[in-house]
Amino acid sequence: MLYAYRKLNLSFINKIPLKTFIKKVKIRPLMISSIIILFLTFHRCTEVLIDNSLEPKAGFCLTFDDDYIEDWYSINDMLLLNNVKATFFVSEIYNLSSDQIELLTELKTSGHEIGSHGWNHTNAVEYLINHTLEEYYQYEIQPAIEYMAGIGLKPESFAYPFGRSSDSLDQFLFQYFNILRHVTVEQLQLSSKEVDEIDEIYYKFNGTRYATGLGIDVNYKISQEMLKKVLIRAKTNDEVVVLFSHRPVDSSPQPYETNKTYLDSLLKLANELNLRSYRFSELLDYN
Ligand SMILES: [Zn+2]
Repeated sequence: MLYAYRKLNLSFINKIPLKTFIKKVKIRPLMISSIIILFLTFHRCTEVLIDNSLEPKAGFCLTFDDDYIEDWYSINDMLLLNNVKATFFVSEIYNLSSDQIELLTELKTSGHEIGSHGWNHTNAVEYLINHTLEEYYQYEIQPAIEYMAGIGLKPESFAYPFGRSSDSLDQFLFQYFNILRHVTVEQLQLSSKEVDEIDEIYYKFNGTRYATGLGIDVNYKISQEMLKKVLIRAKTNDEVVVLFSHRPVDSSPQPYETNKTYLDSLLKLANELNLRSYRFSELLDYN
């Protein structure tokens, strides 16, 4: 210390008394340790950031369709508790009350995605038999985008009502949405395939701007065992399985409804398998 003082005594601070100098030097270790702590914290933060953006990772994407706003909101705590971000594709949004819009906004604030499921919930393939693409846009797409943008919920993604889509329609809608959700043809027709053999429900980070969902409402008859197979394949192959449901209910699910206990088991299992939860639009972030 004295040596350092003497050295400095020759320099520009030679007027500083020894006591003051010692005080200053004593502060230095504190400053240095603070800098080290800051550096380590920054380093750690950078590591976490890098970890999130590095590689695509096996996961699942949980989506809900239509306009069951209160029922969707009723599972928000369950989703957050399990660190899951869901995507809610809302249709006929003009019918919602201001209270329902508020709940939808809260879901977005909680970190979930709000996508579009059409202004009138139209079967696009049937509609286009007698209408042009421009008419479809004005009838089904444009009002939904404008209305949702007006209330701070501009959609980046779209889920086809009734799962009815076509390649040319996809190309047309890519002008307005980043990513589109289809429904697996295996659930639109009778199929004998095992769930882990339905290749199209697994998103593979290959740059496609659509992903295909597997319905898990009670009418789709996807047992817990089958669900486990679905998640294990995603884990094994580093893919993301896309699931869709409509209305979460407390008991006795009817067609297009899913029991909340079933959803809870799904989330727990996904956590056990260390699967990442993806909002629908996030699938594109890892291509
Ligand atoms: Zn629908």
